[in-house]
Amino acid sequence: MDDCIFCKIIEGVIPSKKVFENEDLVAFEDLNPVAPVHVLLVPKRHFANLYEMSSTPQGLETLNSLYKALPELVRACGLESKGFRLINNCGENAGQTVMHVHFHLVGGIPLGPRII
Ligand code: 5GP
Ligand code: ZN
Repeated sequence: MDDCIFCKIIEGVIPSKKVFENEDLVAFEDLNPVAPVHVLLVPKRHFANLYEMSSTPQGLETLNSLYKALPELVRACGLESKGFRLINNCGENAGQTVMHVHFHLVGGIPLGPRII
């Protein structure tokens, strides 16, 4: 999609530090990490947010593919023993700033207070 930062990263037009890739998704380091490990897990197909993604059969298939890849990604990031958070911000009230669905994989230190 035009004017989407993450589509441009997926196309290779904007550089990124990739840590994982398969036919459906890519994972790259967040530009402004909040923890020693802060990776964005991004489907190659453009969906604006998790609500839109999970509202279509193709989106649900991609979501399944994303969760299938999670163990390998977690191991690649060295997070398998001490754990992590997987976070999705969906829409305005959640503070989503890039309108291409993505999950933050965060870990590498104790992550502090939870709101839920
Ligand atoms: P959101 O606030 O939408 O949940 O998360 C968007 C994330 O994308 C932020 O953590 C931000 O640091 C990251 N981000 C924004 N632009 C870029 C970019 O050009 N490259 C990378 N690697 N991360 C980006
Ligand atoms: Zn996009």
